[in-house]
Amino acid sequence: MSMKGRVIVVSGPSGVGKGTLLKKLFAESDLPLEMSVSATTRPPRAGELNGVHYWFLTRDDFLARRARGEFLESFEVYPGGALYGTLRETVLHAVDNGKWIVLEIDVKGAKSILEQIPNADTIFIAPPSVDALLVRLQKRGTETPEDLAKRLKQAEQEIAESGFYRYRVVNDDLDVAYSDLLKIFNSLRESSAI
Ligand code: ADP
Ligand code: 5GP
Repeated sequence: MSMKGRVIVVSGPSGVGKGTLLKKLFAESDLPLEMSVSATTRPPRAGELNGVHYWFLTRDDFLARRARGEFLESFEVYPGGALYGTLRETVLHAVDNGKWIVLEIDVKGAKSILEQIPNADTIFIAPPSVDALLVRLQKRGTETPEDLAKRLKQAEQEIAESGFYRYRVVNDDLDVAYSDLLKIFNSLRESSAI
């Protein structure tokens, strides 16, 4: 891998504000950031585009690609639910081109990436409380009540397992969280790359 590229993993429970924070960072930062477009078997939400938000695959296609070794990591993020995976080629191509590739993936995926790329930077975005998370998810209104319950249960587990991340940002006040995230990314300029 080239000297300049970086792999940055960002995790946090569904609804914590990862998308909101990263969108702002990508719009405002002068760093060579690139978002890793994952593959998933879940259906697109309103406004989600294939190849932009995810590569939306059938389960058969996903499993065939997994068998061919196309994923750096892949998991059923919610038990019994859709598959999600990081495409190996996407990450390697970005790093070879000196990009800072950002992987927005779950805690299991983050652990797997760290095993393969020990110098990856890891950031966990935490909610002020699980109750606040519920309010945000309800407001976003993209999940059925059943899916919402699954995501909240998963949130508690992910928060409990998040001790291994190098950085932690609590997204209570959005402006404060954004400023904390910006500080982390700016500090990475000075630390050694992968
Ligand atoms: P994620 O990408 O982590 O699933 P989103 O970025 O979609 O989360 O945010 C979930 C919802 O919470 C969105 O409606 C977003 O506008 C809202 N939100 C994000 N950050 C905050 C915050 N600090 N305070 C209140 N609401 C927030
Ligand atoms: P959503 O369905 O809300 O887009 O994503 C649900 C969860 O899947 C989030 O926690 C997100 O970080 C995770 N996720 C998205 N893509 C990947 C991936 O490629 N690998 C893994 N392990 N998790 C992912």
